[in-house]
Amino acid sequence: MKRIGRLAPSPTGALHLGNIRTFLIAWLQMRRAGGKVLMRIEDLDHPKHKAGADAGLLEDLVWLGFDWDGPVLRQSARLPLYRDALRRLAPLYPCFCSRADIQGAQSAPHPGEVLRYPGTCRGRARPPAPDRVPAWRLPLTAQDDGRYVDAFAGAQTQTAAQRTGDFVVARGEDPAYALAVVVDDAATGVTDVVRGDDILPVTPAQIVLYHRLGLTPPTFWHMPLVVGPDGRRLAKRHGDTRIAAYRAAGVPPGRILAALARSCGWKASPDTTLRDLIPCFDLSTIPHEPFVWHDALL
Ligand code: GLU
Repeated sequence: MKRIGRLAPSPTGALHLGNIRTFLIAWLQMRRAGGKVLMRIEDLDHPKHKAGADAGLLEDLVWLGFDWDGPVLRQSARLPLYRDALRRLAPLYPCFCSRADIQGAQSAPHPGEVLRYPGTCRGRARPPAPDRVPAWRLPLTAQDDGRYVDAFAGAQTQTAAQRTGDFVVARGEDPAYALAVVVDDAATGVTDVVRGDDILPVTPAQIVLYHRLGLTPPTFWHMPLVVGPDGRRLAKRHGDTRIAAYRAAGVPPGRILAALARSCGWKASPDTTLRDLIPCFDLSTIPHEPFVWHDALL
């Protein structure tokens, strides 16, 4: 069977080194295996999305040497598929809790954990705030497990009930990200999902969705994130690590690719192209710890 991977950027702003390192691994894995790479823009409405960011991120990827098979898919054009999946997941229940309500009901999550929903609105006869748009949650049953073995991060021993509790599959009429990703990956035959391990905590919930919808989950590879010297996730406070900024400053793409390749334990010269790296690809040398970035690595 031909393997199919995908790059799934969200148009939240310009791509930075953290995004690119994960995409590099995802792309090389498929190219090395003779598989396909799909491109999907995750542009469902989200307050963090920026207008026009999708054109910029595709430009950055092409500049670095990425290519993909078939047309660019856009989630905003696929709403009927997600709505159909929502109907198949029924019954759902409406939830009117705010984040603060949920936070107040439990101790603060540890870093890398998500807020677990304690089920406050489950079985409520009347919504407490009918003027607010409800979040629609999937009531988990004893059959919903969600534990799985991650091909990179190893065995995940917590069930969806322990990780997320009854999770959100839609807000009002809008399908949630966690559902859209599952529907899309299944519909496009994706066999391998390589992505940042910030999404690891919601993966058991996504596995539950695969099973509830009668779909087969792909193999998941959750990769450690890139962090700054302070150990925190790469962000503006660590300087400008956007690809567009390096490009504007005249940094050639090979230097960026080589620095990221070295972070994965692969030898690469600063004039490398992305294609040159295909034979270097080796998952076994990628460290399991977050990669600490500082500009001197460039
Ligand atoms: N669009 C998500 C992001 O940019 C990635 C989702 C996924 O790979 O499943 O963080």
